[in-house]
Amino acid sequence: MRRTAHGMAKGRGMSGDLDEFSKLISNSQSIVTFTGAGISTESGIPDFRSPGGLWEKNRPIEFSEFMQSEEARRESWRRKFSMEQIIAKATPNKGHMAISSLYGQGKLKAVITQNIDGLHQVSGIEDDDVIEVHGNTTYAKCLDCATRMELEIVREIFANDETLPVCDRCGGIVKTATISFGQPMPVAEMRRASAAALNCDLFLVIGSSLVVYPAADIPKMAKQAGAQLVILNREPTPMDDHADLVLNREIGETLAFVTKL
Ligand SMILES: [Zn+2]
Repeated sequence: MRRTAHGMAKGRGMSGDLDEFSKLISNSQSIVTFTGAGISTESGIPDFRSPGGLWEKNRPIEFSEFMQSEEARRESWRRKFSMEQIIAKATPNKGHMAISSLYGQGKLKAVITQNIDGLHQVSGIEDDDVIEVHGNTTYAKCLDCATRMELEIVREIFANDETLPVCDRCGGIVKTATISFGQPMPVAEMRRASAAALNCDLFLVIGSSLVVYPAADIPKMAKQAGAQLVILNREPTPMDDHADLVLNREIGETLAFVTKL
């Protein structure tokens, strides 16, 4: 039976959903989480997509625009370097730490994340166990030959007069290793995310509104393969009807509670 924070079965206390969440975690041997912007807003990283978020004022730069327009590329690097200052100051919050504690206990096998802030890694999860489906913001690469370029170098080139970086090897366009709207999903990461989803017994969606496809298909795969599906998000998601448990609650305090941190 599905219960939500706002629609609990009769006769259960206000925290019936929390008890049920705790039970699912303690009964599980192999947890995979799928995290989105909602877990990092509690670390002060803005959710671009939320109402009043950055993308209401600065609409996202589509991949095709990035490729076609030098000004779009400049704007993209400006945003990148201003965002970097916010990320540099951010530290993992209660939600990240609760996930990390499940990992430390050996229960949590992998974190699939839409975030590019690296906070799961800072919280103690090995790089190999964090699957970044929207890419990585800590380096750049050539879109033609995939040669890596360090951000320090891009920053130096860009700093004075906003000169755009080009690939040393082939002269191609250089972009951060993140995935923009309209850009294909990274094949290796999607394959790893699917494998993790198919091999868990509990799949936790945390702080994602599950509207960005195809990443949002991953929870459905887990459910179809027999995992229990829990969605913890402040707002309803299109996957709520498929979930075994939905909690529309604050993320950090909920995860801290159910993992007894
Ligand atoms: Zn190149």
